[in-house]
Amino acid sequence: MTEPEFYRWVVWAIFGSAVVTFLYLLRRPAPYGRHYDGAGWGPSIHNKVGWIVMEWPAVFLFLLIYFRGENAWGVVPLIFLAMWQGHYLNRSLIYPLRTRTKGRMPVLVVLSGYVFNCLNASVNAWFIADVGQYGPSWLVDPRFLAGMALFVGGMSLNMHADNVLLGLRKQGRTGYVVPQGGAYRTISCPNYLGEILEWTGWAVATWSLAGVAFAVFTAANLIPRARSNHRWYRENFPDYPANRRALIPGVF
Ligand code: NDP
Repeated sequence: MTEPEFYRWVVWAIFGSAVVTFLYLLRRPAPYGRHYDGAGWGPSIHNKVGWIVMEWPAVFLFLLIYFRGENAWGVVPLIFLAMWQGHYLNRSLIYPLRTRTKGRMPVLVVLSGYVFNCLNASVNAWFIADVGQYGPSWLVDPRFLAGMALFVGGMSLNMHADNVLLGLRKQGRTGYVVPQGGAYRTISCPNYLGEILEWTGWAVATWSLAGVAFAVFTAANLIPRARSNHRWYRENFPDYPANRRALIPGVF
């Protein structure tokens, strides 16, 4: 099998796993955070360690494959590299170290996240540094501009929403409380909405099938989880704001 054939298979495998993930998560939430009670799923590790281990390949493997690419020193690929690394340095290192979680996650979840990140980082790095032809004119292409706007807007929303949640456990507080203010006035999971917008922006800006596969997988993962989190809030907080939706203000 040639390298391009291999990468195409991986991209279609990500699409396939998005379908399986979506159907599974509609029935049962992924066992981490508030949806993991420590029972079943085999051995577990601390949440912080789990996040670092499973997200780290998105940083190092991406760099490794990116710098093998013929177009690695082009201006546009370098901008994509900065966008990707900006997100993943936060997600794999800064974010886990800032969390005030005492929870654990099953090793099985960490392993599946690790494998997913290896595959996803590989195909996205390969596309932008090797396959995509992004000359300087791409900088003013409407697809690049619209995608960048979505990416930056989504990332800002995601980080704002994560910050609100991490702030809820300041001063030694533990457990869960109802988040207030900002985007939480209208939806339960603005962090997930931001993440979905961010990777949709990536798909548009890179105009790549690898980018689309990642955006579809993110939505398949986070739409059912937003539904589960929203239901969980309603079950656990009787005074939970009735007008708040799960993911899309006023709709869902
Ligand atoms: P959650 O909203 O479940 O939790 C985020 C953090 O905030 C955890 O440390 C959690 O603690 C804490 N927390 C959550 N709700 C409350 C509350 N009501 N009161 C006090 N503390 C709270 O997010 P996830 O862990 O599911 O995701 C984390 C980030 O990773 C998000 O930005 C998400 O978008 C991203 N992500 C991306 C995916 C993708 O496919 N691209 C997949 C999954 C996540 P605890 O751990 O104890 O629950």
